[in-house]
Amino acid sequence: MKVFGVRKRFILFPPIVFILGILITIAIYSPVRIHYVYGILPVIIAQNPKSSTDGRIATSRGPLILIDSRFINNEKIIKHEMVHVRQYYRTLSMSSWLSFLSKEHLVDIEVEAYITEIKSPEDFVEIAEHIRTEYAPEVSEEYIINRLWKYWRSKR
Ligand SMILES: [Zn+2]
Repeated sequence: MKVFGVRKRFILFPPIVFILGILITIAIYSPVRIHYVYGILPVIIAQNPKSSTDGRIATSRGPLILIDSRFINNEKIIKHEMVHVRQYYRTLSMSSWLSFLSKEHLVDIEVEAYITEIKSPEDFVEIAEHIRTEYAPEVSEEYIINRLWKYWRSKR
């Protein structure tokens, strides 16, 4: 049963590396807060020591959310970044890579996160303008508004 033994070890390898990665991240960024997405997948929320977030208040790197210490208890910002962590897990980390390749994909992942903050479609124009200037000036506002409608309808 040597073959089985090898295979069993091979299967255990990725989760062990993942858990070690999480523990090392916690050690580096300590003190941190831990939240969960999908019930069991960890999200590490850490104060941003300096502005390593490209001038943004918060950013997510895989399962890690770095947030400006002045906004550490801002649930609206955390909720937004939690959507990005969910995207990370859901796509097995491919989501963030795709957003480097396609501005439309970047718009999509931001629309999905911003839709959690929107109370009514009356805010679509303002949010679309914000997403366009912040993330993708080359994408038309009309495209972003269409995506907002798509996520808005799927949310209900
Ligand atoms: Zn975002």
